[in-house]
Amino acid sequence: MTNEHNKDYVYDGRRIKLHKAELTAILLKRFPYYAHLLPQLKHVFENRVQRFIAVKSFIIPGSQAYKEVPVLLSAAAVQLTFGLQEFELPWFRYIRVHAEEYFADDPHALRVLAGHVEENVITVAWNHFLKGIADDRDGANVGLHEMAHALYYQHVIAHNGKRKGFIKELSDVMEESEEIYTLRHNYNVLYSDYAYKNLQEFWAESIELFFEKPEALQEHYPELFDNLKELLNQDPLNKTNPLLP
Ligand SMILES: [Zn+2]
Repeated sequence: MTNEHNKDYVYDGRRIKLHKAELTAILLKRFPYYAHLLPQLKHVFENRVQRFIAVKSFIIPGSQAYKEVPVLLSAAAVQLTFGLQEFELPWFRYIRVHAEEYFADDPHALRVLAGHVEENVITVAWNHFLKGIADDRDGANVGLHEMAHALYYQHVIAHNGKRKGFIKELSDVMEESEEIYTLRHNYNVLYSDYAYKNLQEFWAESIELFFEKPEALQEHYPELFDNLKELLNQDPLNKTNPLLP
């Protein structure tokens, strides 16, 4: 069942014509993480967003504002990886947006999704994505959540563990996560029930909390907070200058 309204369009990122002024206007209006940064870091952030756009293709429903999608989805990836040298997530060729939540392609169960990562595609529901970035202090951000899954996949599966430093710090994060995860019945604070579905979901939700509720994450799980800081080379408590030296 297809009609003009829900027809998908594929945009090669290299061909998206976007002036720097448009890009910064979208980021300033919609992306609080960027808006808080010092001017020189804003500049680095913009360059990374432009680069990320250029190495992806975007699958977008015809009815969506197509310039905001590549800018803001790329910004979510750049936020997560801002303290890392590698930020392009090369395994993932496609970024896909659905207008609203959608059904998983799963013959065994009817599941409604706000986002997921599968094969070389990162998918989000645009309405949930916008809600996630509009409030940057509520701990829910589907963009960061899916980029966290993608970052994990990129390093553990696609790079096959070759980036030793990152993998060492990631395993510190995962060991600490597993301890918290195992104790969930006693100390389930901050995390949603969904985080306890499996360790991957716990990881993705930890990333959301790290950026959106850093004070609370630090208070309740200081070791995990420190491990995430080391892994991502960022301190989310310092909003103007989050990069660690
Ligand atoms: Zn997830």
